[in-house]
Amino acid sequence: MTLHTTCPYCGVGCGVTVIDGIPRGDPNHPENYGRLCSKGAALKETLNLPDRLTQPMIHGEAASWDTALNTIAQAFTRIRNTQGPDAIAFYVSGQFLTEDYYVANKLMKGFIGSGNIDTNSRLCMASSVAGHQRAFGEDVVPGCYEDLEEADLVVQAGSNMAWCHPVLYQRLMLAREKRRTKIVTIDPRRTATAATADLHLPVASGTDVALFNGLLAYLSDAGAVDHSWIAAHVSGFDETLEEARRCAPSLETAAEKVGLPAGDLQGFYELFARTERVVTLYSQGVNQSACGTDKVNAILNCHLATGRIGRSGMGPFSVTGQPNAMGGREVGGLANQLAAHMAFMSEDIDRVRRFWKAPHMAVKPGLKAVDLFEAIGEGRVQAVWIAATNPADSMPRAHLVRDALARCPLVIVSDAWPTDTTALAHVVLPAAGWGEKSGTVTNSERRISRQRAFRSAPGEARPDWWMFTEVGRRMGFEKSFTYRSPADVFREHAALSAFENDGRRIFDIGALADLDDAAYDALLPLQWPWPRRGRGHGGPRLFSGGTFPTTDGRARMVPVAFSPKENDGGDSLTLNTGRTRDQWHTMTRTGRVPRLMIHMTGPRLVMHPSDAARRGIEDDGLAQIASPHGQAILRVSLDAMLRPSEVFVPMHWTNQFCSSGPIDRLVHGMTDPVSGQPDLKGTKVEAAAVTECWRGYLLRSSDGDPAPGETVFWSKRPIARGFAFDLSGWTLLAKLIPSEAALRRLLHAPEEADIISYSDPKKSVFRYAALVRGRLEACVFFASPRSAFPEAEQVSERLGQTLEPGARFSLLSGVDSGAAAPARIVCACFAVKEAAISHAIRSEKLTTTVQIGALLQAGTDCGSCIPELKKLLADIELPAVA
Ligand code: SF4
Repeated sequence: MTLHTTCPYCGVGCGVTVIDGIPRGDPNHPENYGRLCSKGAALKETLNLPDRLTQPMIHGEAASWDTALNTIAQAFTRIRNTQGPDAIAFYVSGQFLTEDYYVANKLMKGFIGSGNIDTNSRLCMASSVAGHQRAFGEDVVPGCYEDLEEADLVVQAGSNMAWCHPVLYQRLMLAREKRRTKIVTIDPRRTATAATADLHLPVASGTDVALFNGLLAYLSDAGAVDHSWIAAHVSGFDETLEEARRCAPSLETAAEKVGLPAGDLQGFYELFARTERVVTLYSQGVNQSACGTDKVNAILNCHLATGRIGRSGMGPFSVTGQPNAMGGREVGGLANQLAAHMAFMSEDIDRVRRFWKAPHMAVKPGLKAVDLFEAIGEGRVQAVWIAATNPADSMPRAHLVRDALARCPLVIVSDAWPTDTTALAHVVLPAAGWGEKSGTVTNSERRISRQRAFRSAPGEARPDWWMFTEVGRRMGFEKSFTYRSPADVFREHAALSAFENDGRRIFDIGALADLDDAAYDALLPLQWPWPRRGRGHGGPRLFSGGTFPTTDGRARMVPVAFSPKENDGGDSLTLNTGRTRDQWHTMTRTGRVPRLMIHMTGPRLVMHPSDAARRGIEDDGLAQIASPHGQAILRVSLDAMLRPSEVFVPMHWTNQFCSSGPIDRLVHGMTDPVSGQPDLKGTKVEAAAVTECWRGYLLRSSDGDPAPGETVFWSKRPIARGFAFDLSGWTLLAKLIPSEAALRRLLHAPEEADIISYSDPKKSVFRYAALVRGRLEACVFFASPRSAFPEAEQVSERLGQTLEPGARFSLLSGVDSGAAAPARIVCACFAVKEAAISHAIRSEKLTTTVQIGALLQAGTDCGSCIPELKKLLADIELPAVA
């Protein structure tokens, strides 16, 4: 059987073809034409992960769906009647399908009667939403992916595309080879994306407003502003330019504010001024900021001032992190939106109320994510339903979120796997996952694609739209929640988008409101708005006619003031959090796939060598970072290309994967005043060296707590035959040597297991293994930090094998494990190892990534490893031709 669906990870929205249950890149999908990145390529390995939630649970006891849904409906009704609708809240997810989102939003805003539904997309792109609304009058992304291929200059602001939107990045790289596209990357870190740019501007974090204000002033001085276009289509130019000049009266001032040499800035400004086809692509580095909305408008101002919008190869382009953040925006999944791109204005409120026949229409915005969890902690919200997201790890000040949920009288969590959030729930509802449920998603270029079920959900797992429908019905709203299928929901969603629209709202998919079930099943990917006679907008690009969905049809340039961060006079560092190449969110799926844990086996604190040296912190050593909200001990990677005073830690690792996660515990609660988006990249932290007394690893066929004591750093990863735990500690090794009982607990060794050991106290080497009937079940190696270890990957090959006495000795002594030498995988898509690539470069005298791809396939799918392939090519010296 062949079926077409979409990848459930990022906002690129790649098509996936499933043939006989095996997912592959869809060669006909207009986003990826068959390509998938490392995460998408590993979808098959996520289909049968263990530990699925399969049964509703109430207070840890299995319950029927009837009991669980009645419990929720009765509690919501009681709380609504006694404490008002605002005492109830939903916190949902960009992982939702549009149909899930629509029903949850309708239930909360139309029938419970509160605006208290927010989504984890608040953490992802709320600043872009607010910036679009301020400039365009509606939250719409004006461009399309083809613009990246047709641009002559692509500016990547706060976006590590190579790792976070890999397939789109590959489209850009392919186009660049033909077109010679210039690429400028603006990022405090030299990311994999920055490494391939023509110009990397490592600005001080949080200074993008000054950078783009300086650009606007420069464009004006250089005569690159399109005054006739502005006169016809834009308001606010004079005030905006005045503010830009106040911020950046000269190029030198702008350079000083962003922390760059004036020459570098001038190079960028000149390039922008003389290039007609410019796309400015941006994502979390812009959005996740205390001034994120102003950053967005500073970018939009430059495009509006030059008329570089709505035409081929040009425009501002916000790319979303999550697969259906855009769908959530369409249905009004944010607390400050109504459905179908309508707002909390009396006319819109009344329109939605009449369409839904809503008895309790919300009349004001609800609480945004950070405020929402504060309200839960303060008891203003008495019941919360969290769906398809893990705020106990992903929210700033995550420990406060955990405290708030622990105090909340009713916490409902629907999810597919157990998380740190489900652990705090009174009611857990098992959700259908990717491949098990059907609906639609909208990607970053406004393309709606189907997700289709191709397998049964396990146990009693159900789709989220069904759960919210059933609760609505049980609250007495049967007539308004009659959906039998996602197609029913989609038709209503499409009809609402067209209801009393008359072209005022660009989001109008009313033509799909009459799809029958078969047509919905067969729906091909389509991009809204499609061209329609008499409407000012249509086709893949918006605003080509210069008409905007504002009251007067003109776009607004928005004056944005730059407020430099206060210098605390100390030696603190700025904590930047973000993604890594092969992981997704809090690792509930990707962290369980061995090959996705190879690229980065554990969380790292990335620092500049000068910051580390001042603190006595060593490369690959341990360090503690601390903010007023918490502390974490992490292993360190020094990176001379990182901007001094900045540190980076990936956001993925949670308590389930390491002793110090989640890093968002340390992040402050500051938010953008307009969008409410948390400032996830600007927390001040202190750092100090931690004396590492020993290190080692534990390999075990079973999962579970690996810590042999409190004073231990550990991180976990799945391997082919079990789990590997990296360990290190800061108490004397001699104090660590475990008793036999403790050792058995650590090794999960049953009574019948033989414990074998090898120790050399003079060299501080201690090694133990547990064998059951001769089969290796677990082993743990400790030594001083500088001691040589047998490679964990090599030893792990022995797990589950029966070891003869000679092999046991070899295993513990490290003389010869008998396993193949370890090799680092560079290309996760095709599992191509560094050794094979290096060998091919030398033996075949390869000089380009294309040649490597032709020989080994490495880099030919998602292309995320191309920067590493380039580094290998640069590092390996080929012998000169005689
Ligand atoms: S780029 Fe990767 S994660 Fe994003 S949609 Fe495509 S395959 Fe999925």
